[in-house]
Order: sequence, then C-alpha cells, then structure tokens
Amino acid sequence: DLEAKFPRRKLAFWPSPIHPLPRLSEAIGVEVWAKRDDIASGLAFGGNKVRKLEWLAADAIAQGCDTLVSIGNIQSNHTRQVAAVAAVLGMKCKLVQEEWTRWEDPAYDKVGNILLSRLMGAETILEGEGYSTAVKETWERALEQVRREGGRPYAIPAGASDHPLGGLGYAHFADEVAAQEAAQGLFFDTVVTATCTGSTQAGMVVGFGAQDRRRRLLGIDTAADAAMTRAAVTKIARATAELIGLNREIRDEEIEIDPRFAGPDYGLPDDATIAAIRTAASLEAMLTDPVYEGKSMAGLIAMAKSGEIPKGSRVLYVHLGGAPALNAYHNAFV
Ligand code: PLP
Repeated sequence: DLEAKFPRRKLAFWPSPIHPLPRLSEAIGVEVWAKRDDIASGLAFGGNKVRKLEWLAADAIAQGCDTLVSIGNIQSNHTRQVAAVAAVLGMKCKLVQEEWTRWEDPAYDKVGNILLSRLMGAETILEGEGYSTAVKETWERALEQVRREGGRPYAIPAGASDHPLGGLGYAHFADEVAAQEAAQGLFFDTVVTATCTGSTQAGMVVGFGAQDRRRRLLGIDTAADAAMTRAAVTKIARATAELIGLNREIRDEEIEIDPRFAGPDYGLPDDATIAAIRTAASLEAMLTDPVYEGKSMAGLIAMAKSGEIPKGSRVLYVHLGGAPALNAYHNAFV
C-alpha cells in the first residue's frame, strides 16, 4: 500500500471515473472504456499532473516550502496544474514557459493553459525553447531567484517526471484500476496511454507490473522522439520500482512505446491526430487535444482498425487531460 509508505496530499475526487465508450467501440471494432483523469479534479480542468503532484505537494509542505517552481511548454498542461496546486495550498508559483513548439498564432501565448495559470496567480516567465528532458538553466535561475528573495522554492521538473516521487501517482493508479475492475467484474487486457516526459507510463509499468495478471500497456509517444521518451520512462520506472521496494528489475520489454502517432514534432498534430480529435468529440463528446490525447486516440483508432489490438480485446483508454490547449490550436481545425 503506497499511501502507508509515502505521504499524499489529496487534491482530487478519487477514483477517477471509468466508463464505456459505446459509439467509439462500435466504430473501431473493439470494446473501449475511458479512465477520466482529465475530469477527476476541481483544480482548473485538472489532468494527469494533479495525480502526480499529490505526492510532491505532501513533500513540499513537509519541507516548509512556499513557492512551487516548474517548467514546460508555453501551452503546458503541467505548469497550469502546478499553478493550480500552488493556489490551493496557498503557495506562490513561478513557471518557466518555453517555446517547445512553433505554432503560428498570435494568441498562442495568451489563451488556454497559460491564461489559466496567470489567473491563478502564477508568474509566467517566457524564455527558452526546444523540448528536452534535460535540466534547464532557466529553471535553475528561477529557483535561485526565489532563494535570493528569501523564499523556499520547491523544484518540480517538466511533467513532474524526473523527480524521486514522480512515478508514485501512476504506480498508485494501477491499484485504483484494479479496484475498479474488481468492483465491475471486468478486466482490461490492454491499456493505452499518451507518453512524453515519462512518469505517467513509468508509474503504470511499475504498478501494473506488480499485479498478478498480465496486460499490455501501450505508450503512444507524443514527444516525436521515442528514444528520448523510452530513456525517460525506463529511468523513472526503475527508480520508482526501487523506491517502492518492488523486488525485481523492470525489463526493457515491459516498456512498449509506439513512435508512429507523434506527428511531425512535439506539439504539432498530423491529419490522423486531427481526425482522431474529431472522432472522439463527435461520437462521445470526449475532448482530446492536438499535443497529447489526440495522438494517443489516433494510435488507439489505427491499432484497433488494423487488428494490432485484436478483436475481443477490452481496452482502457487513459484520458490524461489536455483539452484546455484546444483554443490555442483553433486554426488546426479550419
Ligand atoms: N497527456 C497530457 C494532457 C499531458 O499534459 C501530458 C504531459 O506531458 C501527457 C499526456 C504525457 O504525460 P507524461 O509527461 O507523464 O509522459
């Protein structure tokens, strides 16, 4: 039981709901359910970072920190969720917003996630560019500035991923899924998740890997650099396994990352992304975005139709959030 070992500051309405997607299932020929981490919290549209940040928030409080400092893309869902957590904990928040994507729209740095972060009182620092999981000097400067001003910063890396506690949220997620399966009397043989900075999939690898019954966990790369994503997931999965005392090594084969649906680059959709977003919206009123969930949805649809996810499978599509970015991408849908 992870909660007995590691302090957690609950910030959402758990468990996140699961429900069938009947019209999508009929269209693609396999039974699909969604697990809705996108709607599990009241914190400014929520998403997967709330689940991770619960464990970091407890640590920040224990350390007496007063300012959360993080980094992400201009339209980062992660930084918006850090701003939300800071707001409800009564902490300050400093966010480095890099340009990971060149998206030509005059409103890109004004609407969607960044607008919400500003509304919640976060300071947004627009500098730096290019997605990578490396530690950025801009982020270290922001931390240093908080210290200089007499504050106590708590450092949260991109996606709350490369952090000692980053994998706990989605390791615990696996227990939550198992409890919902037991309650409903069903089993998901396939789980589909978007993957980027890595701790979502890494936590699941560890959490599902600790269960008796095997299932397939499909990570759909959204970084457009599957090798970098794999390195991140592997590092975090192994560190998390050790942290929680899983008594075996995570094997390379347990980490499945599909590079085919990432589009031309991080943050850039292709035709399949856009089509998938329209499909999920028009059949199920389920909103997905051009950076993350539109890509994992495109992967689900393509693999179900091709038979790579065989007929008769029962699939859990994990919805990790992201819809707040949609308005910043309005011109992808003309
Ligand atoms: N989906 C959404 C909406 C996200 O904001 C992110 C964050 O990067 C992901 C998926 C991928 O999760 P992770 O970065 O933990 O791999």
